[in-house]
Amino acid sequence: MDPILNIENVTKTYGNVPNQTKALNGITFQVMPGEFLGIMGSSGSGKSTLLNCIATVIQPTGGSIVMEGRSLTSLSGKALAEYRGKNIGYLFQNFELLDNLTGRENILLPTSLHNMPEKDSSLRLKQLAEYLEITDVLDRFPMQMSGGQRQRVAAARAMILHPKIILADEPTGALDSKNAKKVMEKLSGLNQQEQATILMVTHDSNAASFCKRILFIQDGVLFHELRRGEESRRDFYERILKVMAQLGGGSCNVL
Ligand code: ADP
Repeated sequence: MDPILNIENVTKTYGNVPNQTKALNGITFQVMPGEFLGIMGSSGSGKSTLLNCIATVIQPTGGSIVMEGRSLTSLSGKALAEYRGKNIGYLFQNFELLDNLTGRENILLPTSLHNMPEKDSSLRLKQLAEYLEITDVLDRFPMQMSGGQRQRVAAARAMILHPKIILADEPTGALDSKNAKKVMEKLSGLNQQEQATILMVTHDSNAASFCKRILFIQDGVLFHELRRGEESRRDFYERILKVMAQLGGGSCNVL
């Protein structure tokens, strides 16, 4: 099986001499179809920089990022926007929903931008809304929803076009532990039932325990990998905590 994403020796340096910060220092890894991969590290370790490079929000200084054989670092302008819009779903810490659109309109926005036929989009919307338990908030505006509902609406928007990969940046960061758990259960379910490929950056060990594999980053370098085996989520969580303790980080959440 070919990887969906191939990250090869990616570096990112901010600023100019003498005020340079080397945020990524040679990152190499692959994401396989159907994976639920977490990237963990303490604050300032380079997680957001890495995700932003993959999301093509910023250009890496060196290395290559190839998605299904296409070099994302060499695409630009309209071709990049088109490729990104169709193939990558985004989930952000602060949901990034448009306040003046209802839940339904927010979710359907990518379908009109990318000409998805209406009968396909309404069927997909119905399926996702039922699964994500947001059917009854579809006609509300984001301000009329709880944080958990907003993030599940954002997840439906991210999934509506059947993207090749979901990039999630601290998706539980703005949620209380109960809502965070529900969002993670739903993401994990989409990964298992639809083989959705998810790459999630988080510093929350509890959220990370839903992943199948975790890469740990420190000072812009990957230094450890954990794979979830046959163990329970609690046991995986304990293993994650041990690695995070080595990083000087921790988790304020409990299972
Ligand atoms: P994390 O997401 O793990 O907290 P970041 O990727 O945000 O880490 O940051 C990695 C390093 O790069 C840090 O030292 C940070 O201060 C630095 N950095 C991040 N963004 C910028 C920027 N726009 N300009 C200069 N330095 C930056």
